[in-house]
Amino acid sequence: MNSTPPPQLLLLVLPFLLLLQTWPSLAEEKQILPSCTGYPGIPGSPGNNGLPGRDGRDGNEGREGAKGEKGEIGAQGPPGNDGPTGLPGFQGTPGDAGLRGERGLQGPPGKSGPSGEMGLKGEKGDPGPVGIPGQPGNEIQIAQLETQLESISRMWDKFSKLGRRFTFIYWTAHKHKLLAVTHTKGNFENVLKLCREAEGLMFYPEDEEENSILQSFHRKVGILYVGATDAKTEGTFMDLNNKPLSFTKWKAGEPNNAGGNENCIHTLDNGEWNDTSCNGEFYTVCQF
Ligand code: BGC
Ligand code: CA
Repeated sequence: MNSTPPPQLLLLVLPFLLLLQTWPSLAEEKQILPSCTGYPGIPGSPGNNGLPGRDGRDGNEGREGAKGEKGEIGAQGPPGNDGPTGLPGFQGTPGDAGLRGERGLQGPPGKSGPSGEMGLKGEKGDPGPVGIPGQPGNEIQIAQLETQLESISRMWDKFSKLGRRFTFIYWTAHKHKLLAVTHTKGNFENVLKLCREAEGLMFYPEDEEENSILQSFHRKVGILYVGATDAKTEGTFMDLNNKPLSFTKWKAGEPNNAGGNENCIHTLDNGEWNDTSCNGEFYTVCQF
C-alpha cells in the first residue's frame, strides 16, 4: 500500500512550516525571558523567503481518457496499379458493306453441259492414203499356232519331268526337303540322271538326322549312292552343288580310294560310308 501523503495535504501544511522557519526567535524568547508584565514589543520586520522545497514525486498514471470524436475524411489516395487484362468483348455488329472490288481472275471451266441433239450428217470426206499391204491370211494363223505350240511343248516337257516322279518310291518329307528312292538301280551317272530328269537332285545328308533317313532307305532297298563325288579333285568330296561336305559318316579307314578309282560314295548297313567306284549298280535318293 502507498504511504505517501496526498498532494492536497502537503499544500495545507506548507504555510505553517514556512512561518516556523521565519520566526524562530519568538519561540526562543518565550523560554528565556522572565515572566513579567510589559508592553508588547514592536513586531519585527518579516524575514526573507525560504528556499524552494524539493520536487514532489511523480503522481500515478491517470485513467484512460474518453474516446475522441471521429476525424475528418482523409485526402484521396494516388491511383492503384493497372488490373489484369479483361475477357474479350462481344463481337460488334457488322459494319456497312465496302466498295465493290476489282474484277477477279477467270475461274476454271465448269462441267460439260448435257449433250445437245445430234447434228445433221456432214458431207463425205476425201479418200484416205493407200494402206500398207497386209499379210496373206494363212501366214498369220501359222505364226500364231507356232507360238502356241512352243508354249504347250514347254508345259508338256515340265509336266513329263514332274510325271517321272510317280516312278519314285518311299517318299519322305523332312523340313523343306521331299525325299524319294529311285525305282531302279543304276551306275552313278544313270541314277544321277534319274534325279535330274524328275527335276530333282541326288541327296547328300547334311547331318546325323538326315543320314539316319538315308539309312532307313538303305534298310528298305539296299545300298545307295550318296550325292557327292571327288571326281573333280581327288580326295576332296563335294556335293552336287559343288560345295565341300560339311558332314561325313566315313567308316574307319575310309575314304581310301582303293585301286585309285573310288570317286563315289555308297552307304553301309550301319549307316556309315565307303568310297567306291562309280560303276557299281545301286539305288539312290533324290531330293525335290
Ligand atoms: C574296302 C573298301 C573298298 C572296297 C572296294 C573293301 O574291302 O574296305 O575300301 O572300297 O573293298 O570294293
Ligand atoms: Ca573305299
